[in-house]
Amino acid sequence: MSQTLFLLPGDGIGTEIMAEVEKLIAFLNAEGLTDFETDAGLVGGSAYDAHGAAISDADMEKALAADAVIFGAVGGPKWDGVPYDVRPEAGLLRLRKDLALFANLRPAICYPALADASSLKREIVEGLDLLVVRELTGGVYFGEPKEITDLGNGQKRAVDTQVYESYEIDRICRVAFDLAGTRGKKVHSADKKNVMKSGVLWDEIAHQVAKDYPGIAFEHILADNAAMQLVRNPKQFDVIVTDNLFGDVLSDAAAMLTGSLGMLPSASLGAPDPETGKRKALYEPVHGSAPDIAGQGKANPIAMIASFAMALRYSFEMVELADRVEKAIADVLEDGLRTPDIMQDGAKAVGTTEMGDAIIAKLKG
Ligand code: NAD
Repeated sequence: MSQTLFLLPGDGIGTEIMAEVEKLIAFLNAEGLTDFETDAGLVGGSAYDAHGAAISDADMEKALAADAVIFGAVGGPKWDGVPYDVRPEAGLLRLRKDLALFANLRPAICYPALADASSLKREIVEGLDLLVVRELTGGVYFGEPKEITDLGNGQKRAVDTQVYESYEIDRICRVAFDLAGTRGKKVHSADKKNVMKSGVLWDEIAHQVAKDYPGIAFEHILADNAAMQLVRNPKQFDVIVTDNLFGDVLSDAAAMLTGSLGMLPSASLGAPDPETGKRKALYEPVHGSAPDIAGQGKANPIAMIASFAMALRYSFEMVELADRVEKAIADVLEDGLRTPDIMQDGAKAVGTTEMGDAIIAKLKG
């Protein structure tokens, strides 16, 4: 039975980089390597222009029905003045909410050809491949009370509330252990159990979940030490699971070990369906719609293509094919092909379509 992908290119370079994923899907289908059925919709400013909403109900239905949503990027100066609740980002927020995507996955992969572009030494980052699994819908960003009160004596008091229930910790830890099973078979759980009650509960539940995964190595790490270790020796990590706040910080730090924004993929997953076991999922590059280069054929499609590779790996269990796509990306970089954002001395300058074509050519070879 064919599998369904719902493509939401969005705005700016979103449409240009999604075109490269569409070419790749057509190639994989033609080769008999996949049997994807695709449909496309509008999100962000383009949806606002067509429907007056950042995503239409009809497209939302399609996103809910699809096996995976592949998302480009939204936004741009054209829509700076639109009402707040229909601004382009509202489309992405609605998708995350309605698909109940509580797990955010941010890999940090350092391609050997780009190791010198990292701010760390080549030997520290070359061959790096780690994944930060961040809890996305709970914790201190959402906990109540969340307020600033005037104390009436010239002072104010601000409160944010870090709150987690055990089911929220359990389900995000299970995502991390499941994913570690498809990768390096090691999970670090990062919290601040030394000073936070939510950390004590986090660690207790993480240990409980670990017992269900005897084939996966498990270690606790304090979140501040995780930050230090990420810049000291990042290759010791496979999967790091952590809460919303620490995940926000650690995933940005980890991603930047590897260089340009145009290279960074991500995924957000929901709970497994009780009948099919399949999770709702959305795959998207970390970057935005890059209005400064939109329409010029300069955008780097690698983050978008690597996001699609994550879909192959995590939504469709096509681990070998995902490996092949990632290897094709590594190979074109090794050949010296560079879009302007990752240009280096002596490299060959290419545009969006040439980069996409070169990646497909590697898969043919
Ligand atoms: P941005 O990520 O769009 O761009 C930042 C810089 O990185 C720009 O110089 C851009 O040219 C460059 N860049 C980004 N992706 C690139 C790629 N694939 N190839 C080459 N260069 C690339 O961030 P911004 O400029 O702060 O925001 C632009 C718009 O995107 C805004 O409307 C913002 O709200 C929106 N945005 C959307 C998302 C999303 O859709 N998830 C995320 C971030 C920003």
